[in-house]
Amino acid sequence: MFHVAFLPSPGMGHIIPLFQFAKHLVHHHRVRVSFLVITAEASAAQNQFLQSAIPPELQVINIPQPDMAGIITDDMLLLTQLCVITQESLKPLKFILAELNPKALVIDIFATQAIDVCEELSIPVYSFFTASTTLLTFSLYLPTLDSQTDGEFVDLPGPVEVPGCPPIRTEDLLDQVRNRNNEEYRWFFFHVSRMSLVSGIFANTWQDLERVSLKALKENPFFGEISTPPVYPVGPLIKDDEFLTDNDAEIITWLDNQPSDSVLFISLGSGGTLSSKQLTELAWGLEMSQQRFILVARKPTDATASGAFFSAGSDENDPSAYLPEGFIQKTREFALVISSWAPQVAVLRHESTGAFMSHCGWNSTLESLVHGVPMIAWPLYAEQRMNATVLAEEVGVAVKPVAEPEDEVIRREEVERVVRAMMEGEQGKAIRRRARELKESARKTMEKGGLSYSSICHVVEHWKSPG
Ligand code: UDP
Repeated sequence: MFHVAFLPSPGMGHIIPLFQFAKHLVHHHRVRVSFLVITAEASAAQNQFLQSAIPPELQVINIPQPDMAGIITDDMLLLTQLCVITQESLKPLKFILAELNPKALVIDIFATQAIDVCEELSIPVYSFFTASTTLLTFSLYLPTLDSQTDGEFVDLPGPVEVPGCPPIRTEDLLDQVRNRNNEEYRWFFFHVSRMSLVSGIFANTWQDLERVSLKALKENPFFGEISTPPVYPVGPLIKDDEFLTDNDAEIITWLDNQPSDSVLFISLGSGGTLSSKQLTELAWGLEMSQQRFILVARKPTDATASGAFFSAGSDENDPSAYLPEGFIQKTREFALVISSWAPQVAVLRHESTGAFMSHCGWNSTLESLVHGVPMIAWPLYAEQRMNATVLAEEVGVAVKPVAEPEDEVIRREEVERVVRAMMEGEQGKAIRRRARELKESARKTMEKGGLSYSSICHVVEHWKSPG
């Protein structure tokens, strides 16, 4: 059997789609996969996910934990932490790959150190881009933008124009490029500027969702100063099954007893957290809307919007300690509050789920669209503002609540307004229709003969062809 190795960087948003791709290769293309996992600082959610049922042709290999004492400091931002953990963990990679001797290695964007190791071992490297193609085109263009711009990108007089792509408003630019003098930028730049070194890039998207960016990639063999490797749209690849705990099963039973399309699911990704003030406004707005909902509650923090990234799935959190007093009791008749982590795909797949208030992480976006669920966009960190704008303004599957210019939070009245508009209003109906269309096209593209399915076949054939 043909043997391929996978290497995701840490975080559920990276591990889940690469794992899904690996499973697809095993099930549909008779490929054997060694799935290398960085275990340092692994979250409880990660550990649980990797214990799920996996076919025997997919072997999970834990990379031994490096000694991280003193290496991660409290003042490091999220991407810096993630990249430092990856860098330290990859020290034994050459030894591991030499033993495994795979025919190709699939990495994600923050593990590009593997490219040098694979060059020494003559193993071709492919990158799986876990975010949107809007971000992929921006990333490929970044070295050019960097060399042509003085000062900060956020201070540019107009939007960033990536060739062939919709303009990106400076306020939507991802966190990692908002300050070019910090470590976050240096790490992001380091990894994206090495993307031209890979043999191909798998994009977790499909034609009907990101037609313009995919066309731009096809038509630009050189994106600015960087040569673009072949890009293969292979998505949507999303988590298809989840291990359900007893608590999860109770959530599904609760949903079974609600009318179709009546429940709003609120979950902010694997890391998303709100400030205390924002969480209070959100809770009041939900209560005032009187719509059914499931809220995945996380302890608020004023320090960062990604406060749960490395602790996701640990249940040490009591929502009644930080939600407004009496909120859980007052909404008990029509809502569920869950601590930390939900079986997101099982909830989105359920016919009672009518909308998803999401941080617009790319996996959450794909999971929502594959199940035809419209979104209320609540972007928090990384590239989520870019995703939210594309989903609301170009694709037409989301609404975005707005904060008044003088406020640092979205007020309860605005939360109530968007929730009602989505669950009861005409706007919600139109957006839901569009989401259902995309559900259908997502199904077709992954079927035999569909564009994404065929893209995967094309690469596998290439891997298997002699020479
Ligand atoms: N997720 C989940 N339950 C939760 C929160 C998140 O299963 O309560 C999963 C979600 O289904 C998705 C992933 O975690 O597959 C989050 O990835 P995404 O790209 O949306 O956001 P990130 O966490 O990387 O910001």
